[in-house]
Amino acid sequence: MLTVVKADITTLEVDVIVNAANNSLLGGGGVDGAIHRAAGPELLEECRRLGGCATGDAKVTKGYRLPAKYVIHTVGPVWYGGERGEADLLASCYRRALEVAANVEARSIAFPGISTGVYGYPVDQAAKIAVTTVQEVLPAYPVIEKVVFCCFSDRDRAVYEKLLTKPK
Ligand code: ADP
Repeated sequence: MLTVVKADITTLEVDVIVNAANNSLLGGGGVDGAIHRAAGPELLEECRRLGGCATGDAKVTKGYRLPAKYVIHTVGPVWYGGERGEADLLASCYRRALEVAANVEARSIAFPGISTGVYGYPVDQAAKIAVTTVQEVLPAYPVIEKVVFCCFSDRDRAVYEKLLTKPK
């Protein structure tokens, strides 16, 4: 099941929340900053031991003080105009996050709009990749029952709602 909410992702009661991190995994602004603040300092401790993360890849930590059991840190591409492999890298974030989530037997997972903040990916294009990639990959992971697209604005929520109600 694919759903859309407008919320602060750190408040969601799901098995996994996905973090739009940077290559260092040592914290940043935006959703990354919010997740680290809500999870507490142990999250940064665990992230330090991971040795960073490649763009398009994903790594898991515990959720510490979050309601979520795990955080899956993925690194989206910076938007340079679309001709530097951004779409493939963004799709890879969603694919890898779902793969890692299935490995920890997550039944529910929430994604923020990876790359659509400071990294500048146009929301309409990013949301389309998010939804189509999840729809494509999810059947391979029957353990994952629920995928939540967690939006931070009404505009973003409207974009996802349109994509999810559109007949295929
Ligand atoms: P990136 O560097 O990948 O662009 P950002 O954190 O700057 O990451 O933004 C990614 C998305 O997360 C944006 O759509 C932003 O509005 C959203 N966002 C920021 N804070 C939160 C939050 N607490 N919960 C959910 N989404 C958030």
